[in-house]
Amino acid sequence: AIPLVVAVSTSLAAGSGLLIRERQAFERARNLQAIVFDKTGTLTEGKFGVTDIVPLADTDKDEILRLSASMEAYSEHPIALGVVNSAKEQNIELDNVEDFKSIPGKGVEGSIQGRRLKVVSPGYLKENGIELQNDQIEKIQQQGKTVVFLLEGDIPLGAVGLADIIRKESKEAIEKLRSMDVKCMMLTGDNRFVAQWVAEELELDDYFAEVLPHEKSQTIKEIQEKYTVAMVGDGVNDAPALVQADVGIAIGAGTDVAIESADIILVKSDPRDAIDIILLSKKTYSKMF
Ligand code: ADP
Ligand code: MG
Repeated sequence: AIPLVVAVSTSLAAGSGLLIRERQAFERARNLQAIVFDKTGTLTEGKFGVTDIVPLADTDKDEILRLSASMEAYSEHPIALGVVNSAKEQNIELDNVEDFKSIPGKGVEGSIQGRRLKVVSPGYLKENGIELQNDQIEKIQQQGKTVVFLLEGDIPLGAVGLADIIRKESKEAIEKLRSMDVKCMMLTGDNRFVAQWVAEELELDDYFAEVLPHEKSQTIKEIQEKYTVAMVGDGVNDAPALVQADVGIAIGAGTDVAIESADIILVKSDPRDAIDIILLSKKTYSKMF
């Protein structure tokens, strides 16, 4: 039988927008010392819009957007949706893409009329020894924007800058958690400039940037050497980290894979509800023992 206190708390939890799937994780939540948040779609809205296009070869801005959007039409990544929506807003007609492939945590690739194209992260360029020094791009990144590159073969044709918005609830969530002595951290595959900008805006205790999908759970493991950790995420890439964390928390509006991997779901997708997890867990289990 379910102990009465727990049953009561679970319905309390439901009232406050929490769905508890793993009771033991809910119990561990009272001892949380750190919460690691995914950036895109968790601390931020995850709704990107294109703000800047920087030509790097002979291709003009419209063509950079058309080629990028044509490729991204096959991806479900928030960046991809942003690029496609911006092309739609400008009534740009998309090209057919052949041999589409996504490169997890890095971007996409495919062919348009025999041209081998990619839309990829700054990290991908670095890994492949593609050197690029551009003041305009640096300025865009310092504004906290995400930049991806359109490549033909190994040649950058252009850079696309996108802006996302920090959720207005995030600031309050972080402030409250810190006042409860819970360390607040961020884990992201995005580049370190953007990560640094968000970390400063939210006054996070620490952040980890340019973390590849398969490295996210390893990062949680390392943090666990010092702290009891919750991970809050929304994406397919976050699933292994949600499983690894002492308490895995998924954003309700997140992907199915994240929700299925989590112990607790924030039904209203409000990061402030993570505070209630700790408070409710403390309340429930201090009564019991
Ligand atoms: P996050 O941790 O922010 O959810 P991901 O691990 O999904 O990030 O992606 C990391 C980085 O890989 C992105 O910031 C972007 O630079 C690049 N990337 C991933 N998917 C795409 C895509 N469809 N188009 C362009 N870039 C992508
Ligand atoms: Mg995310």
